[in-house]
Amino acid sequence: MSDDIFITEERIEGAEDGPLAGKTVAVKDNISTDGVRTTCGSRMLEDYVPPYDATVVSRLKAAGATIVGKANMDEFGMGTTTETSYFGETDNPAAPGHVPGGSSGGSAAAVAAGEADLALGSDTGGSVRCPAAFCGVVGIKPTYGLVSRYGLIAYGNSLEQIGPFGETVEDAAQLLDVIAGSDDRDATTRSEGDDSSYADAATGDVDGLSIGVPTELLEGADEGVVETFWEALGELEDRGAEYHEVSLPSVEHAVEAYYVIAMSEASSNLARFDGVRYGHSGGYDGNWNETFARAREEGFGDEVKRRILLGTYALSAGYHDKYYKKAQDARAWVKQDFDEALSEADVLASPTMPVPPFELGESLNDPLQLYLADANTVPVNLADLPAISVPAGETDGLPVGLQLVGPAFGEERLIRAASALA
Ligand code: GLN
Repeated sequence: MSDDIFITEERIEGAEDGPLAGKTVAVKDNISTDGVRTTCGSRMLEDYVPPYDATVVSRLKAAGATIVGKANMDEFGMGTTTETSYFGETDNPAAPGHVPGGSSGGSAAAVAAGEADLALGSDTGGSVRCPAAFCGVVGIKPTYGLVSRYGLIAYGNSLEQIGPFGETVEDAAQLLDVIAGSDDRDATTRSEGDDSSYADAATGDVDGLSIGVPTELLEGADEGVVETFWEALGELEDRGAEYHEVSLPSVEHAVEAYYVIAMSEASSNLARFDGVRYGHSGGYDGNWNETFARAREEGFGDEVKRRILLGTYALSAGYHDKYYKKAQDARAWVKQDFDEALSEADVLASPTMPVPPFELGESLNDPLQLYLADANTVPVNLADLPAISVPAGETDGLPVGLQLVGPAFGEERLIRAASALA
């Protein structure tokens, strides 16, 4: 099993004691580890060994954790199934023969298979929450700015955060306590998590909690998924929570806006991989243009190429206003809608994914189907808000996740509510 979960299985021992002493952690392979290969699931970085640790890795070490491996992922974080990895697919330990979700599929699978107590992933448009939902574990996407991105190899830097996985909400919260907080090396971090006690918030107390259910996030979802979602909400109601419908009219534009912004940022972030400064080299034969082209042709897979081409197009002169600027306007509208909905409820709830896990290979040739599967997760990244995915139950034996979304830096509220379920 572990062969397809980890790209590198080197053990990195942390300090002798600390809050994570004795805990094993899997780290997504786009998070830099000093002296240990960090590939981003790509041939482009197959041999890349970072000379420094990401801030989250330094914090893991200081907290006494043992890193047991670098986890498989969709190439550069681009995907929803972990099948775009250059190193091959990862099976879903909770539903063998199905994808583990993505892009942090190896991280979620490591926890689901018991290969690690905890794991780190990154979430640009759902990449922590989707695999958490598909593998039946807990995943948290922190508020933008809560966790340092120093040493995270960027895909869509205005959208992404590193986030924790655990078998229970309390486990994931304990890992969040270790990684959250300001960092001089990432100017987008804020001090809200500096004195955090997220694990203490996992009391399961939902008495009096008001839950808004955005009707738009149920539209088009699989029937079995929706049924499981309502059952989980019923459990929260039994424990004293109340729910009512709310509306997020702008989310119908969220997938389009997300993909324009994410691909635009990706086209810029991935420009550094040219085989000279960074990445796979196809060799130099006297012509630099051909040298760069060959390195990128050989180093990147199809999905990454597709996104670089589309992102470059969206940013090009003459199209910038039509696509990129329009997507930024939609992003502002989505943010505003969430603010309004969160003034009418403490948290918002939806299925994390509108569908159960695909069979391995099933969705490979249909990128559009995959992009649409991100409908419930990407709006949260556009709005910079925190969210958690917690196991809600199963449909036809396949795991279903419940997503809770809260106000900026409202992680404690999400942890308190979600811990009523897992
Ligand atoms: N599935 C989304 C994408 O492909 C999200 C990926 C992510 O969060 N890294 O962009």
